[in-house]
Amino acid sequence: MSDALIQTQIAARRDSLIALTQDLIRIPTLNPPGRHYREICDYLAARLAASGFTVQLLRATGAPGDSETYPRWNLLARREGAGPGDCVHFNSHHDVVEVGHGWTRDPFGGELDGGRIYGRGACDMKGGLAASIIAAESFIAARPGFRGAIEISATADEESGGFGGVAWMAQQGYFAPERVQHVIIPEPLHKDRICLGHRGVWWAEIETKGRIAHGSMPFLGDSAIRHMGALLAEIEATLYPHLTTKHTEMPVIPEGARQSTLNINSIHGGEPEPEPGYTGLPAPCVADRCRIILDRRFLIEERIDEVKAEVTGLLERLRAERPGFAYEIRDLFEVQPTMTEKDAPVVRTVAAAIEKVLGRQAEYVVSPGTYDQKHIDRIGKLKNCIAYGPGVLDLAHQPDEWVGVDDMADSAKVMALTLAELLPE
Ligand SMILES: [Zn+2]
Repeated sequence: MSDALIQTQIAARRDSLIALTQDLIRIPTLNPPGRHYREICDYLAARLAASGFTVQLLRATGAPGDSETYPRWNLLARREGAGPGDCVHFNSHHDVVEVGHGWTRDPFGGELDGGRIYGRGACDMKGGLAASIIAAESFIAARPGFRGAIEISATADEESGGFGGVAWMAQQGYFAPERVQHVIIPEPLHKDRICLGHRGVWWAEIETKGRIAHGSMPFLGDSAIRHMGALLAEIEATLYPHLTTKHTEMPVIPEGARQSTLNINSIHGGEPEPEPGYTGLPAPCVADRCRIILDRRFLIEERIDEVKAEVTGLLERLRAERPGFAYEIRDLFEVQPTMTEKDAPVVRTVAAAIEKVLGRQAEYVVSPGTYDQKHIDRIGKLKNCIAYGPGVLDLAHQPDEWVGVDDMADSAKVMALTLAELLPE
């Protein structure tokens, strides 16, 4: 009975959901460099204060990327219920990636056409943020006597690692398990999917060493590019075939990512690229340095030290076998894989709500890349966390990005029924 009342409240707020999404898209929170963060936080603070939330504007002073020109602002809003109980936290990032080419719509216009709202950040993830706000407002209207608390945060810099956003907030204790018990991140995974976590990441830079000499007498030097070529040949011949044998029980989407993957993000060797406008020829030199950056994504079944040992093993073999081979390897970035248990309270509750609203079973997925769950898990030590939100992941970061109004309304219903279950009267 009261589930129907909650759903009616959401249906009645359809225009408000559309207007809110449009307003959020029209604030161009581009990252990098991190524009208009304060503006979007002020907008949300006014909106949520009017709905009875206590709001805090939090600047991640000193975090990577924070400066007087581009301060890293975050918003945290909290609404206490009528008595003690759990806290359900909705976390959305408010930053969006660059526009890029190929748009046929105004990327910051928030145009509504055929049931879709267009713009940069529409699906990733201002649509999800708007849906969570409408869900909370509808739930509070339908169940004013709820116990516990609702939090909504809009955080900076997810697109550049989250260090001025969720990581900073977790370091300050805002995601401590005694403060927050359930976290839902409304990333665009689709309204019938629950994202349990993500694969792990290891980025490393490898440099091969050489000795510079005149290009007409390469035998007087030692080419770092040839040494790197030997490493790349070894990676092709042994490491790539080995990685395809590693499969995971994690339900990663798309399916191609259900195994270990490796990308070589970049390669640089020898003479630097000429300055723009330089019209002369390059100089003949033997390359004394060559560098690559590896992007290895690993599975919950793998340990990061084993992942690293696969690469250092190849390098050591080359050092033993190849005259003059010398290298350096440097870790750049690492994130452990994470996957919330399917029987965790937030997972079970959202799954039941999906079934009620959509009449079908929830699909469980894992993201190929990481998102802010990594900080909530590792720094915040909170395991009861998922990503759930409207929108089609493939549209994220694309031209003519959009989010469907029906999808937002349906996922708002799922979020509101989740609140009703976790925050009973
Ligand atoms: Zn996102």
